[in-house]
Amino acid sequence: MELIIHRGTQEIGGSCVELKTDRTRVLIDLGMPLVNKDKKPFDSKILERKSIEDLKDLKILPNIRGLYKNDEKDVDAILISHSHLDHYGLLNYVHPDIPIYMSQGARELIEISSIFTPNKLNKINTKIIDSKKAFSIGDIEVTPYIVDHSAFDALAFLLEADGKRLFYSGDFRGHGRKSKLFEKIVRNPPKDVDCLLMEGSTLGREEQLYRDEIAVQNRIEQILKAADNISFLFVSSQNIDRIVSAYKACLKTDRIFVIDIYTAYILDRLSSISKHIPQFDWRNVRVKFYKNQADILAREVSKKLLYRYNAKKIEMPEINEQKNQILMLTRYNSLFPRVIKSINNPIGAKIIYSMWEGYLSNEFTEYCVQNGLIIEQVHSSGHAKSTDLKSFASAINPKTLIPIHTFEAKRYPALFQNVKLLKNEEVFTLP
Ligand SMILES: [Zn+2]
Repeated sequence: MELIIHRGTQEIGGSCVELKTDRTRVLIDLGMPLVNKDKKPFDSKILERKSIEDLKDLKILPNIRGLYKNDEKDVDAILISHSHLDHYGLLNYVHPDIPIYMSQGARELIEISSIFTPNKLNKINTKIIDSKKAFSIGDIEVTPYIVDHSAFDALAFLLEADGKRLFYSGDFRGHGRKSKLFEKIVRNPPKDVDCLLMEGSTLGREEQLYRDEIAVQNRIEQILKAADNISFLFVSSQNIDRIVSAYKACLKTDRIFVIDIYTAYILDRLSSISKHIPQFDWRNVRVKFYKNQADILAREVSKKLLYRYNAKKIEMPEINEQKNQILMLTRYNSLFPRVIKSINNPIGAKIIYSMWEGYLSNEFTEYCVQNGLIIEQVHSSGHAKSTDLKSFASAINPKTLIPIHTFEAKRYPALFQNVKLLKNEEVFTLP
């Protein structure tokens, strides 16, 4: 079995791995880069109006034979570990006959992003993975493992062929609401792993504000208890763990959790996968309507859903009447200043900033200062801290451990056993 990491040996984002036997070629993830060569943020606008060949020349699309639309198909399948753009964001370029395997949760979230965000996805040949069942692609056997990550229903994969076993960790952590999944792998790891590809996003940037998801929930609860004005929650609506933490904090303090139509729709679509995800019609949840989201839902999905969500609609007068009782999910976009303008005396309102601090712009901080809004960062990483990486690696105890999805591959040899550093595009034959 041969392994080629097309991208990811030296960077976070844009992961793409190839596994190959004499008969079968499988890719794992085909992500959009997060950074350019100079480590400045990658701007997806660069993709506009460029051909596949142009994008290969720019090293944005990995140079993989038989993968793209303009080529003769020679890749048997693509496995997508989870619904973050840096793991699936280049799928639009692939040959339409290549089956793309992912979890049900990933499929729902990727589809919703395609409806509501600029990240449009063409029709792809999706196959849904049952996370309890192994399956085969040619002579490669794939066993999925659900992992704890900030993306819902994220998977790691064990791939076996030619008597060799490779484990791809994907993105994971041990301190989310599904930390049990992490403990399960550590307690009962896949045996005889020849090669482990393990992420290391937090290495080199490990100042955790909050230890775990429960600490985040507790802090949100304290803030809500002490609030004498409206509180805003800045969070990705797709970070289901965090939405659950915020909802539980609202229940404990009897506050009203105001979500938007986009969030209500995400939660609604995931309700068939988990009964524990809060829904728009649950206690203490209300829905704020924004015209652009309502238009998209009516046009692209169904008007009926709007009528359903309308039953729990909340409008500004009601919000103003009980503003110290409200936690309002929002984001920094053109709507936010309009919301602030419609709040009676927003001075002193709290912004619970519950996303990676790298997204917190100077522009937004400045805006908050000018408007008397107080930012408090309440966040916990989507990725494993180094102690958890260590217990994960030593539980799996691979013959070879290869860094991926990290800016700090060079730190691995000091932290873990049997490390081998690869370069992007280097062909590695499993020994
Ligand atoms: Zn991720």
